Amino acid sequence: MIELKDITKTFRQKNKSISALSGVSLKVERGRIFGIIGPSGAGKSTLIRCVNLLEKPDTGEVIVDGQNLLTMSASQLADARRHIGMIFQHFNLLSSRTVHGNIAFPLELAGVSAADIDTRVNELLSLVGLEDKKNNYPASLSGGQKQRVAIARALATNPKVLLCDEATSALDPSTTNAILNLLKDINRKLQITILLITHEMEVVRTICDDVALISDGKIAEQLPVHAIFSNT
Ligand code: ADP
Ligand code: ADP
Repeated sequence: MIELKDITKTFRQKNKSISALSGVSLKVERGRIFGIIGPSGAGKSTLIRCVNLLEKPDTGEVIVDGQNLLTMSASQLADARRHIGMIFQHFNLLSSRTVHGNIAFPLELAGVSAADIDTRVNELLSLVGLEDKKNNYPASLSGGQKQRVAIARALATNPKVLLCDEATSALDPSTTNAILNLLKDINRKLQITILLITHEMEVVRTICDDVALISDGKIAEQLPVHAIFSNT
């Protein structure tokens, strides 16, 4: 479903260059929950941002659902990105829009009619359990509720892939568990492939099928999660 081939990425600043990724290859099978774990600065964020080209690799290939994103035209890429949802540590909601307005946003960009948007937003609100918060503004929500809105927004255009960039790192342990359970539910019900990054082994243990360990811009090891936690 997702294939990264020999990705390199160097950030150049005034007088120095930082090698964030050096030769990363990764294959995520359809329907899996794939975790990337590693210490701060290892390159996790850069790596996951390469999957939807929020960050453009210097070299390598990014293949999602059989298509090479790096050789696409701008309009093909815009289309491909609709099938790649993303959520973030700090939710990135639009503070001037209600919950409904946030979830509707990608649908508006895709040119969906107002009536269809309303139906779809209601479905998504029920999926994430926030029917009663439809007209709230983000500032009035808890962290877990904000992440539920972000998940609903990421799923609005029916993506095949969901990227999660430290999606539970700003949440307390019980809210973290609830969000991880929701992600697992979404993975099973909607058959969405999930790629997530985390610095916590507990997150990997709770929901991932596979895990890759990244250190210093390189994948050190990749294995099925049951091989690590064979007693669970
Ligand atoms: P992680 O997500 O594992 O903490 P990152 O991918 O954020 O790691 O960062 C990898 C390395 O690249 C770090 O040394 C970081 O400081 C550097 N880096 C990330 N983004 C940029 C940027 N936009 N400009 C310069 N350096 C960056
Ligand atoms: P997170 O770990 O939540 O992704 P970071 O603080 O690592 O947040 O990065 C936030 C933003 O700053 C990202 O867009 C990243 O690319 C950029 N960034 C990270 N490290 C550096 C750096 N050394 N120099 C410039 N930009 C950076």
